[in-house]
Amino acid sequence: MKILHASAEVAPFSKTGGLGDVAAALPAALAAEGVDVLVVTPWYARLGGDAEPLWIGDVDVPFADGIDSVGVGTLERDGVRFAFVGHPDFRRDEAYGYADDVRRFARFCRAVPAVAARVGFVPDVVHAHDWHAGLLPVLLERAWHLPDGFPGRPSVATVHNVQYQGVAPLAHVLHWARLPLELIGSHLEHDEQANLLRASVGFADVVTTVSPSYAEELSDPAYGFGLETTFAALGQRLVGILNGIDTLLWDPASDEHLAARYNAADVSGKATCRTALQGELALDDGGPVLGVVTRLADQKGIDLLLAALPQLLEQGWRLALLGRGDAELERLAAEAEADAPGRVAFRSAHDEGLAHRIYAGSDALAVPSRFEPCGLSQMIAQRYGTLPIVRATGGLRDTVTHQRDGFVFEAASASALVAAALEARSAWDGVAWRAMQRLAMSHDRSWQASAREYIARYREVMGVDA
Ligand code: ADP
Repeated sequence: MKILHASAEVAPFSKTGGLGDVAAALPAALAAEGVDVLVVTPWYARLGGDAEPLWIGDVDVPFADGIDSVGVGTLERDGVRFAFVGHPDFRRDEAYGYADDVRRFARFCRAVPAVAARVGFVPDVVHAHDWHAGLLPVLLERAWHLPDGFPGRPSVATVHNVQYQGVAPLAHVLHWARLPLELIGSHLEHDEQANLLRASVGFADVVTTVSPSYAEELSDPAYGFGLETTFAALGQRLVGILNGIDTLLWDPASDEHLAARYNAADVSGKATCRTALQGELALDDGGPVLGVVTRLADQKGIDLLLAALPQLLEQGWRLALLGRGDAELERLAAEAEADAPGRVAFRSAHDEGLAHRIYAGSDALAVPSRFEPCGLSQMIAQRYGTLPIVRATGGLRDTVTHQRDGFVFEAASASALVAAALEARSAWDGVAWRAMQRLAMSHDRSWQASAREYIARYREVMGVDA
């Protein structure tokens, strides 16, 4: 079975959030199950993980009025082949966040089949992640000028976050991607614009999202970001498959970022990690540490956390907040640190090492998200014996059980968070807390089970019996 994954981010080469983790870990888990996998991703100016793809040549890709010359880079890791799409559009400081993003990723989608063909990979199924790869299912079904073996290939689309949809004028997208005018009025169109996420959902043979609860929420106007009727119409074609985490990377027993290592049978090293974290962040040791590792975006409810902060501090918590993003949230977080030195620490950065040390050195981790398709940080925290305090939404609802392996609150409000934090504070470090810690650390969050579910979907769209 040959599966092509197309993703705008793939860790460690590029990552802004969970998409990068998933686009790395799922292919590796599929490869471990014997699947032949190629991951195609943009060749950004700066690649993480000391990656130096080998340039193997250029391919011609039809785009807009002309022919792009696209560089092809390759490398192999953990049994997975990676192909990088080289074009000046991607040689920028960030992966995205630019005014011309839809055009850039239309270009990426147009290049993916040509790049795959150049490395000799003709897939059985194309797996498109999020809106950035959303034109691929459309191209496979409707485009001219595709390499041999690509026209009509089945596709799977995964929605990692419905908030980001890739919207641009329809006429432009048809022109850039050289798609026929008959697509006016198709699933590519939404509110008189081209919508690349809706396109992927409408044209893919199977649509997956990253947790069963999020699959249900997507049909709800409160969560669907305008695409709820599109999702409601999918019926059985929409499947929720919970993400795993990279259990080698996230393992307190072998984590090299930590001051001490520990496991479920002996958590004594965790106290050392807490002391080291307090030292690193200049927090006093007057109470348990509440960690947060997040993008600073409205979705994540960090405004709720900051509104709750005075009461959380009254309960005795110390806050270790690592996050980057929204300027106003950064300002508020910096202000909170200045107001409570020794009790609040805020680091505005994307810092892998500090993230590991917060997961290990904190007692609890707050995830007060307004919506959360799956969420990885709460699962990572559990593995480090750090009990998550989460809002009951999406994957948070599916992975945390109140008073068993974490704490769950319903309303997206500061007061609901304060109430759950108080329950956690009361239980902290007692016998019940230890039992919850042990249970949280014992969960199998490896990718194997999820990978098998994806393989079942690939077989389905290939028309092969399980
Ligand atoms: P999302 O994909 O919405 O950002 P997830 O919880 O699914 O949220 O994934 C977040 C991933 O990114 C986790 O691996 C988390 O540790 C990591 N991460 C988020 N913010 C930071 C940061 N500021 N520094 C380091 N890692 C971060």
